[in-house]
Amino acid sequence: MSKYSSEILNSIKAYTPGEQPRDKKYIKLNTNESPYPPSKGVIEAINKSEIEDLRLYCDPECKRLKELLSDAYNVRPQNIFVSNGSDDILNFAFMAYGKDGAVFPDITYGFYSVFAELHNIKYETVPLTDDFKIDTGMYLNRNKLIVIANPNAPTGIDIPLEEIEKIIKSNPQSVVLIDEAYVDFGGESCAELTEKYDNLLCVHTYSKSRSMAGARLGFAIANEEIIKDLEKIKYSTNPYNINRLTQIAGAVAITEDDYYKENCKKIIQTREYTANALKELNFTVLPSKTNFLFAKSDIISGEDFYLKLKDRGVLVRHFGSERIKDFNRITIGSYDEMVKFIEITKQILDEQRKA
Ligand SMILES: *Cc1c(COP(=O)(O)O)cnc(C)c1O
Repeated sequence: MSKYSSEILNSIKAYTPGEQPRDKKYIKLNTNESPYPPSKGVIEAINKSEIEDLRLYCDPECKRLKELLSDAYNVRPQNIFVSNGSDDILNFAFMAYGKDGAVFPDITYGFYSVFAELHNIKYETVPLTDDFKIDTGMYLNRNKLIVIANPNAPTGIDIPLEEIEKIIKSNPQSVVLIDEAYVDFGGESCAELTEKYDNLLCVHTYSKSRSMAGARLGFAIANEEIIKDLEKIKYSTNPYNINRLTQIAGAVAITEDDYYKENCKKIIQTREYTANALKELNFTVLPSKTNFLFAKSDIISGEDFYLKLKDRGVLVRHFGSERIKDFNRITIGSYDEMVKFIEITKQILDEQRKA
């Protein structure tokens, strides 16, 4: 750190993104990207004339994108906020709604604690149950900023909508943020509950089910007043935070939703194939409603498995924290990639048994 930096900057531990090594070509199952490209219309829309228009500022209101999203999610454009990835929205929400503190699970998306620390917010983490579920009863009547990923990451386990609604209902004095980054892979969205509850902030991303992690686009659905708060922060920091090409890509993608739904179906099928294959190899595999599996072997440590996979050209995500260090998070790639992953896993286990 430089000698000029603030106390908070000195003390926070920044988020560590999944590695993006360039030394060789990997089967990349470590950052929950889609194995499929964006839809045809998106690829065609990013054309020469749009690139030439990059000399112009983008629409800070993102009107077209908001109209299409509001149609797709059955709300009004005033109920939609769009931003530079959903991480941006999480950041804004912590900034805006953390004054009475925040509550989230001990094992969840690593960015929540980073944002809490960045904005000097006191936070409490609630342990997952022994079977790695979110203990929903612990989030009732808290009246602090509640942040829950549903389905949760890196476990992949979802919470039924009734349980989410109880949490929203019992915290009328605070915002309940439900991060639905993975909801399109089999979870239940709370988006429609935003009509009923003023304190619900439902956050989505184009990074996973819509194959656009590199475009940086996230959106939130909420009561109009919450959207206004988020807009105020955006207009106080960076009004042009979604570039022209991303706005176009995001709008076209919504008009081609069938393609993305089909991809989600394929990913769910491949997930079930992979989960079964791992279970046959004696892995413990948590029940996933996402595009990844969280799994541990009975004969090789999480870290050794991660390292041996990497040696053989397969990247997965290993988290060092005590409670989950035996596990790895494995993104569901294409069917062919997962067949290869299982083959390599078998080789690693065979070697391990001989050793
Ligand atoms: C991937 C992920 C995000 C971040 O998405 P971006 O839109 O790429 O910023 C947010 N929350 C969870 C739980 C995620 O896994």
